[in-house]
Amino acid sequence: MNIHEYQAKEILSTYGIPVPRGRVALTSDQVERAAKELGGHCVVKAQIYAGGRGKAGGVKVVHHPEQAQDLGKELFGKRLVTPQTGPEGLKVRRILVEEAVEVAREFYLSITLDRNSSRYCLIASAEGGVDIEEVAKRSPEKILMFTIDPALGLRPYQARKLAISLGLTGSICEDCVTLMLNLYRVCQEKDCVLVEINPLVVTRAGWLLAMDAKTSFDDNAIFRHHEYPDMMDYSQLDTLEINAGKYDLSYIKLSGNIGCMVNGAGLAMATLDVLAEYGGQPANFLDVGGGATREKVAEAFKIILEDADARGVFVNIFGGIMRCDVIALGIIEAAGEVNCTLPIVVRMDGSQVEEGKRLLAESGLNVQSADNLGDGAAKIVAMLRQ
Ligand code: ADP
Ligand code: MG
Repeated sequence: MNIHEYQAKEILSTYGIPVPRGRVALTSDQVERAAKELGGHCVVKAQIYAGGRGKAGGVKVVHHPEQAQDLGKELFGKRLVTPQTGPEGLKVRRILVEEAVEVAREFYLSITLDRNSSRYCLIASAEGGVDIEEVAKRSPEKILMFTIDPALGLRPYQARKLAISLGLTGSICEDCVTLMLNLYRVCQEKDCVLVEINPLVVTRAGWLLAMDAKTSFDDNAIFRHHEYPDMMDYSQLDTLEINAGKYDLSYIKLSGNIGCMVNGAGLAMATLDVLAEYGGQPANFLDVGGGATREKVAEAFKIILEDADARGVFVNIFGGIMRCDVIALGIIEAAGEVNCTLPIVVRMDGSQVEEGKRLLAESGLNVQSADNLGDGAAKIVAMLRQ
């Protein structure tokens, strides 16, 4: 789960990490007022669930409140396209207005989960800022990495070693040590999979400041933090993914034209592979999980049909816990409700399979049953070609 920069900065701030003074605005008039309060010379920052905003025109310095207001008018409602958003971009609905900071140096600092070692690792670079991806590509030796032992936690001497490697000395170096230790506390206590400060700056006046902040929470830990669901900005998410989330279904959007309903991640992977083998391209896949009810299958099927890219549907379900007649009834109910005329291929196996096939055959839908995965993939590809 992602949150906005301004929310991440609120969290960092409660852990003693210094951030620029700022205000969030929902209208261009609020942008103007915030700019006035901050003295006119400030930075207007579009809030979207993606980085790379600076280069895409989503972060700009202004010198007067009116200029801030004009920029607000331009940004609100605009879809900002950055290398991290995909071609459709993300709509700007909130803007952070922040004091303009005089920067002496920009660093990169993050803590993220390293899935190879299953540990948090601290990543830092003396060449932070908007070109960090370039630095990582061109001169990876400039990216410093340190794996944190979960039993020991991050020790001050380890943080100090890293701060010194960044070229910091004296009191700024000690401030950086404190900041790194606090950042590690944020990670642990807030169950983060990523906290990133890019850039972490040393100001002209000689202070450390987190000028950008990105935080992602571990979805599996959301139940431990009752405030997280309210922090979510649904305007930044795919509406179909939101609906799927409501019914506890996992829905992933892909780029092809065949909607796929499966149960279990393993079967999902096999389905996509075999479909590709037969020349088919999945538009999405929706995992209904084990033991779904007829209602859940119906909701899942409707979500797949709502994807405008889906020209046909391939259902591949192993009815171990789920009964095949229940799956068939769910499909028939959903398809009937939305008058679905798309070609459907259902490959199911297991408990009550004959009854399920009979229900489908008698449903009047444009549906074929398949005997195995290869047969099903071939059938849906052939139906789409017709
Ligand atoms: P993104 O990473 O999405 O491009 P940032 O928040 O990092 O967005 O902003 C991009 C760049 O804009 C930063 O690297 C920094 O140079 C500049 N910037 C951001 N906030 C401020 C600020 N408050 N004062 C001065 N410059 C800023
Ligand atoms: Mg940044």
